[in-house]
Amino acid sequence: MSEQSARTRHTAQDLPDRYREALLPVFGTPQRVLARGEGCRVWDTAGTEYLDLLGGIAVNSLGHAHPAILSALSTQAQTLGHVSNFFATIPQIELAERLLQLAEAPTGSGVFFANSGSEANEAAFKIARRTGRPRVLALVDSFHGRTMGALALTSKEAYRAPFEPLPGGVEFLPAGDEQALADALAPGDVAAVFAEPIQGEAGVLPLSADYLRALRRLTREHGTLLILDEVQTGMGRTGNWFAHQAVPDVQPDVMTLAKGLGGGFPIGAVIAFGAATHDLLRPGQHGTTFGGNPLAAAVGLAVIGTMIDEELLQHTRRVGDQLAQAITALADPRISGVRGEGLLRGIALTEPIAPAVVTAALEAGFILNAPDPSTLRLAPPLIITEAELATFTAALPGLIDAAAAATAEGAR
Ligand SMILES: *Cc1c(COP(=O)(O)O)cnc(C)c1O
Repeated sequence: MSEQSARTRHTAQDLPDRYREALLPVFGTPQRVLARGEGCRVWDTAGTEYLDLLGGIAVNSLGHAHPAILSALSTQAQTLGHVSNFFATIPQIELAERLLQLAEAPTGSGVFFANSGSEANEAAFKIARRTGRPRVLALVDSFHGRTMGALALTSKEAYRAPFEPLPGGVEFLPAGDEQALADALAPGDVAAVFAEPIQGEAGVLPLSADYLRALRRLTREHGTLLILDEVQTGMGRTGNWFAHQAVPDVQPDVMTLAKGLGGGFPIGAVIAFGAATHDLLRPGQHGTTFGGNPLAAAVGLAVIGTMIDEELLQHTRRVGDQLAQAITALADPRISGVRGEGLLRGIALTEPIAPAVVTAALEAGFILNAPDPSTLRLAPPLIITEAELATFTAALPGLIDAAAAATAEGAR
């Protein structure tokens, strides 16, 4: 072995220790140190290849190192990389226009750009406060992010408890319960209801079309804003540009986006639908240094343009349905169902062995995650092929075998 490659190997083995020593421990132990990616594949520092079925948690919609993103980034970086929001840029304006068009937003609508999903929800929360009403509703099992305002809207106690007091006035309703919603809205003092069309972090739990319609109807009746968090479900992930578009006439008053919007480059967005929501945030009441930065906006435009050129919405619907059918057709007694839409899928297991399946999958060269102990989540790049997905479906029963064996071994 040459001295150079010996040093490289030595360095690669050191990396987990260096990670532990240099980074705060919020994420636990990283599963691998990844070195590069291309299409739907990534390689770790040892050179092992993985099929990326998680896409950076529904982020890498065009996979890794997509030429359209590379080109947009380098062209924009050579032109204008960042300006303050005292100035406008063409990519920022074009991306806002594009999003309004894709969201079928009426005239008088507007966009605010942020850098992440949490930040987009913070801005939406501030819009809600500006109605002057004291109460805000969110759903049990919701996830809206980790910053204080977004966390106040997130139901999971383990995330909330260490950080109380959180911004107040938020109440949680059981998803799907129309009566509870009607009762909570009845006093007429609710500023907004926050909801995810499919609760991704909770284990890919879709709201029913009926409940989405009830959300729209009842919030409208009571002058309450309907705020849909499409951070995970938006930008084509479910086979529509936005998941709520699968149900006619449930256009929200405010929608938040991030994840897939930048295909891996950090960007978030808030869309305020119609004139009534447009003016809730007044000049000077909100801001950001990086939000809508020309680099991020140029990448967002490249992602959208590529999705249209390559007909990725249709593709996502088609391969997503095929995947769900193929998993169902396994008729594996340990799989109780497949939830979700398009390429946001939760595979429900009858036993709480999902984390062990994730470990077995990683060993076998597949990246996925377990949002809860009995669910496997898949959110691969939207460019993934049927053949790539089929390699996972074929391997899945063996992965569950390995996980069940490891779990039994561990229990002994
Ligand atoms: C990931 C996610 C967020 C938080 O986004 P960050 O970019 O991590 O701040 C908020 N809402 C939903 C539905 C998400 O999936």
